[in-house]
Amino acid sequence: MSIPFLDLGAAYRELQSEIDTAVARSLASGYYIGGPEVDAFEGEFAAYCGASHAVGVANGLDALHLALRAMDVGPGDEVIVPSNTYIATWLAVSQCGATPVPVEPNARTFNIDPDRIEAAITPRTKVILPVHLYGQPANMDPILAIARKHGLRVLEDGAQAHGARYKGQRLGAHGDVVTWSFYPGKNLGAVGDGGAVTTNDAQLAHRIRVLGNYGSRVKYVNDVQGYNSRLDPLQAAILSVKLRHLDEWNSRRKILAKQYLDGLSSASLVLPYVPNWAEPVWHLFVVQHEHRDALQKDLTDEGITTLIHYPIPPHRQQAYSELQIAGNVFPIAEHMAARVVSLPIGPQLLAQDVAKVIACVKARGQ
Ligand SMILES: *Cc1c(COP(=O)(O)O)cnc(C)c1O
Repeated sequence: MSIPFLDLGAAYRELQSEIDTAVARSLASGYYIGGPEVDAFEGEFAAYCGASHAVGVANGLDALHLALRAMDVGPGDEVIVPSNTYIATWLAVSQCGATPVPVEPNARTFNIDPDRIEAAITPRTKVILPVHLYGQPANMDPILAIARKHGLRVLEDGAQAHGARYKGQRLGAHGDVVTWSFYPGKNLGAVGDGGAVTTNDAQLAHRIRVLGNYGSRVKYVNDVQGYNSRLDPLQAAILSVKLRHLDEWNSRRKILAKQYLDGLSSASLVLPYVPNWAEPVWHLFVVQHEHRDALQKDLTDEGITTLIHYPIPPHRQQAYSELQIAGNVFPIAEHMAARVVSLPIGPQLLAQDVAKVIACVKARGQ
């Protein structure tokens, strides 16, 4: 019996009647861009995140890009990003003509290390862009304090952390804007692309909405050179259904994560570390092993699918050769890239599957 990394078909089947009803309702509404499904989901998602505003966009990368544009980030500006994130975080900065300035993570939490941020600030810095990586919130209070001290904006990449809490409060409006992806594999996933921003800043919300709609407030009146980046009503209808199940599905992930943490405590792995102020949603369950490739191969041979998040840090990608970042300047990011492996986790994964993964890891005896 094989164990998939994440079974999206099983997620659909669990909610099939609710999703099919929502899709039929959306099709019958006659609104195929914008309209009541998008309005309803935006309201529900803002309320869920504890934010005053949510604006749907086409995907998580656009959410980042439009949020940076709305903050007037452009050529000559610098944005502080984690050295160990998914490349989308950096690409959004580059799309604005600005420069991503990498800062290393804390080696235990995997999230940007606030103690290293100030050294990276220059007169060109405009925004600090923490990522809530693997579903665990970044340490927001020191980041917000640094931003206040230096007059910077804070944009949070929440693509992996729908529902996570920092010091008891759900992510959604700690910084100026939080961006979200509804890529199918995320904790709140559509059946195609989708994204959103949440914010308490009415002006930023308005600017992002205008930018994503051809720069137009009133039809055929264009204030700025905008983009076409809108949340699809069919996806919004499905996301409204899935949002009602998000807390329950996140709590299933949490139970499986606990099972891994308990079951693997004696194995020769570095397990995820959760600070006492963090309530992660376990988008990924990432362990580190000195001989990661051998571990991954052994699990593959047993029918267990694992993935690497991420094998090449952005500064090592051909796409960023222009930055000419030489040598081992981001050793934590590179150390992680060589050692991390993500074990299967998801709301439809069974406890017996996790038990099998644990048994396979421990049977290796190293
Ligand atoms: C998935 C992801 C994105 C991009 O989202 P898309 O919807 O695929 O564009 C951005 N940042 C992080 C950290 C992600 O995991």
